[in-house]
Amino acid sequence: MTELEKLRDECLACRRCRIGGVLVAGKFLSNVFSNMNEQAKIMVVGQNPGGYEVEKAEPFVGISGKFFDQLVAEVLGMTRKDFYISNCVRCFSPGNRELLQEELDNCRVFLDKEVEIVKPKVILALGGPAFKQITGMRGIMKHHGELVFSPRYKVFIMPLLHPSPLNMNRPDNRKLFYDDLWKLRAYLDKLEDERLATKVATTPCEK
Ligand code: URA
Repeated sequence: MTELEKLRDECLACRRCRIGGVLVAGKFLSNVFSNMNEQAKIMVVGQNPGGYEVEKAEPFVGISGKFFDQLVAEVLGMTRKDFYISNCVRCFSPGNRELLQEELDNCRVFLDKEVEIVKPKVILALGGPAFKQITGMRGIMKHHGELVFSPRYKVFIMPLLHPSPLNMNRPDNRKLFYDDLWKLRAYLDKLEDERLATKVATTPCEK
């Protein structure tokens, strides 16, 4: 079993909070870990799973996920297989209520360990709560699309608006999301150029 699989199993069994693995109207609501794509260079972190995600046992497979898939395909030519997709909190919150600080704190252990295992080149924080949880900063409307260095994770974080229907059905917010993906694309191109330059510089010349 890999380290990530062990972490997934620990997360699925977690009952630190009241919202972990609960029965609602006789239906078991499982915790939702990640899409397990350990090879991805880009980590995506949302808030917490919704009903669709609990059903499919995978983050961002509902309406927000569809918006995300569509826009990254358009701008980056990527699919969700190119991302490690996760959340700050791994449980559905009743009535999609705001998360409690205690729930965010209890769940942090999983994100910390995921970053250590996956070692992403950049983390996309989707929405204000994810941005705050990862960087301690507020103000998603001010900082979206910026690269913010995280001393905790030693990697750059790019906050983006949450791809929820509430945001994506508003043309102004949708445009912001779209423009930020172009900024991400420029950053990824820069990383690739640097990687190639290092490769050339360290490859021995033929005699
Ligand atoms: N919204 C989130 O923040 N995360 C999900 O997994 C789904 C919707």
